[in-house]
Amino acid sequence: MSDKQTATAKRKAFECSGKLKQVMADHFLELDRASQSGDRKIAWCSSVGPAELLRGMGFLVYYPENHGAMLGASRMAADVIPYANAEGYSPDICSYLTSDIGAFLKEKTPLTKAYNISAVPRPDVLVFNTNQCRDVKDWFAWYARHFNVPLTGVHTYRDIGEIRDYQVKEIAQQIEDLIPGLEAVGGVKFDMDRFKEAVVLSKKTSQLWRTCLETASAVPSPWTFFDAAIHMAPAVVARGIRAGVDYYEILLPELEDRIQNGIGAVEDEKHRLYWEGMPIWGKLRALSEQLSELKACVVASTYCNSWIYEQLDPANPFESMALAYTELFIVRDEAYKEQYIQKCHDLYRFDGIIFHDAKTCPNNTNSRYGMPERLRGKTGVPAVIINGDLNDLRCYSEEQTKTNIEAFIEQLEEGMV
Ligand code: SF4
Repeated sequence: MSDKQTATAKRKAFECSGKLKQVMADHFLELDRASQSGDRKIAWCSSVGPAELLRGMGFLVYYPENHGAMLGASRMAADVIPYANAEGYSPDICSYLTSDIGAFLKEKTPLTKAYNISAVPRPDVLVFNTNQCRDVKDWFAWYARHFNVPLTGVHTYRDIGEIRDYQVKEIAQQIEDLIPGLEAVGGVKFDMDRFKEAVVLSKKTSQLWRTCLETASAVPSPWTFFDAAIHMAPAVVARGIRAGVDYYEILLPELEDRIQNGIGAVEDEKHRLYWEGMPIWGKLRALSEQLSELKACVVASTYCNSWIYEQLDPANPFESMALAYTELFIVRDEAYKEQYIQKCHDLYRFDGIIFHDAKTCPNNTNSRYGMPERLRGKTGVPAVIINGDLNDLRCYSEEQTKTNIEAFIEQLEEGMV
């Protein structure tokens, strides 16, 4: 690769990247202070767990999956996974879980290099929602035993087609039923107004995040999935608080400005792709650069869309939370998922799909039951499946993936697929 090519393949930096770093630093440093001083209660929450309730009850909220992604991106994961395996946690289960528990056992965290923080914050309570998988509950259960703190959460329906009223009501009740236990841990009385305020902020964050993502429907797209996977961090950790809204109010005009000035994330964008499945955290840059070289822009993904909760409604907070956290892609059946990707195709006009078959996350892998073939039959859009993993790079062959992607783009160019 020539120097010129390398320069064009690099991701274009965003001016708001400094602000993003600040939002994340504030998040972790606030948690670290509270963990050391004990002056604020800390809830650990699964990434699509009931964060608004926790924020509304005054908890600081820590997201272990976000830490898992950091372990993947910093490539610490493969070194620490064996320590969780030695505790009986299989190499075949979620590698966020195994890398996070392994890192804890080894007393390692990427937070040290990033923020000079020596350890993840100590939880006062752990709160999951099984809408995404059972692994989050088993993951949190390990820490609940270790710290001897309460484990609580929501058990939800899975593989849902049409969402039924009884499902929403039942999940809403489960969310409401969390309150007495959280009051006991937090030492506070539930305050409906404060809760509604968190719901409002979370909804605003979601709306802004969706608008940011949809700027990628422009041709050329102002950003790629690889950019969005980084800039989505506030949509995960700062929903329900002002910082999430503030961040996307800065990012959005920057994206709109790129569109107005015809600035594409990929020079001379030629191919538009959809990413289905988990990111491969340790290879974001390499994949981004390879695809840029091939003039291919990944314009949309199921993954980044998973933090849009627009059903949230302060007038009906429990039921709207139940609906928002149930209508997510990962919770739905195959037919719904196919329709969802077809709708994305209508909006983003991509001409190929990359399915990531993540070895340790069957929950976020959708290529194993014929979906790529069915989608191609319905839309004519071809797909390539790459085998890898979110964190465990021992399941990933760089050379094989590179070759498969190259061949896929060549085929797109030749109109052979
Ligand atoms: S959805 Fe997949 S990656 Fe996320 S916690 Fe569950 S198993 Fe892990």
